[in-house]
Amino acid sequence: MLLLTIESSCDETAAAVVRDGRTILSNVVSSQVAVHAEYGGVVPEIASRKHLEMITPVVRQALHKADVTLEQIEGIAVTRGPGLLGALLVGVSAAKSLAFARSLPLVGIHHIEGHLLAPALEQHLGYPFLGLVVSGGHTHLYLVEGVGRYRTLGRTIDDAVGEAFDKSATLLGLGYPGGALIDRLARQGNPTAIRFPRPLLHDGSLNFSFSGLKTAVLTHLRKQPAVPEGQELHDLCASFQAAVCELLVKKTEAALELTAARRLVVAGGVACNSGLRAAMGEMAQRRGVELLFPSPALCGDNAAMLAVAADAYLSAGCCDRLDMDAVATWSMDQVARWERLP
Ligand code: ATP
Ligand code: MG
Ligand code: FE
Repeated sequence: MLLLTIESSCDETAAAVVRDGRTILSNVVSSQVAVHAEYGGVVPEIASRKHLEMITPVVRQALHKADVTLEQIEGIAVTRGPGLLGALLVGVSAAKSLAFARSLPLVGIHHIEGHLLAPALEQHLGYPFLGLVVSGGHTHLYLVEGVGRYRTLGRTIDDAVGEAFDKSATLLGLGYPGGALIDRLARQGNPTAIRFPRPLLHDGSLNFSFSGLKTAVLTHLRKQPAVPEGQELHDLCASFQAAVCELLVKKTEAALELTAARRLVVAGGVACNSGLRAAMGEMAQRRGVELLFPSPALCGDNAAMLAVAADAYLSAGCCDRLDMDAVATWSMDQVARWERLP
């Protein structure tokens, strides 16, 4: 099927055209990051307004870049949730309007389902697999038995890992969102220079906690005469990143042990992190587990990633009605798409 997909859950307005849930014909992302940087975080009302401004041009551009017309599109998919309600409503309303105008089937996709299945756009993705989603709002481990069959195994009990990166970057005066910058600075630092805590590392659960790590950065900074620069800053970033990576890798390894899964997907914006890619790669190789990371462009928010699940659902005749609502909170365990087959 030739699908038009739309994403607007946070601060990226995105649209894509994807064939058969596999071939990306276009994947347009308009980021609002510069607008929100001024405020040190995403301002929901501003996000909604920006989405309203950008949704039509972004959809037009996605069609244009794919060299297709709306008449050729066979189905519409949109992020239904979770995310900022006002932001989601813009994408959902646009998707419904297009579906109604063209009498096309419509399907609402879980944003994290999109992140998790993104590797299928680039390589063969076999099931079952263990999925780790590391993003601005999620640090979750899932057992994925197939499209639409997800079980949450563990999750953060406080901050998401992307949030920990961004908040620590703010404390270091690196600006927002500073995750990628910490990654870059960490490359020239000594990861054992500062011993940051590893919260919940040995608690026997598959849950994560990152708020203490951010507080540890703050406590460390308070003890310094000035905000660190140069090598000190590199060492701090490397030490912080080492703590994060150890937490993520050890819990993921415990989940692999528990589920006996032979495949691992790491997805979401923080999956761009070079330290995490290296540490997960080493662990997966040692265990003989197949490891899949989406390429960086498919790690962050985009609309193409929605097409994998959307194509499976729509091909099976599984679609949503035009009164589908946007949902700010939605658990992956409640996706239960196949149980809602007509
Ligand atoms: P969610 O998917 O949970 O709704 P989101 O969509 O806001 O949240 P993403 O767009 O998937 O999150 O990821 C954004 C996060 O990824 C930000 O916190 C950003 O700092 C972080 N990030 C991006 N690149 C890197 C990197 N190289 N190292 C660490 N963090 C990174
Ligand atoms: Mg974003
Ligand atoms: Fe996301």
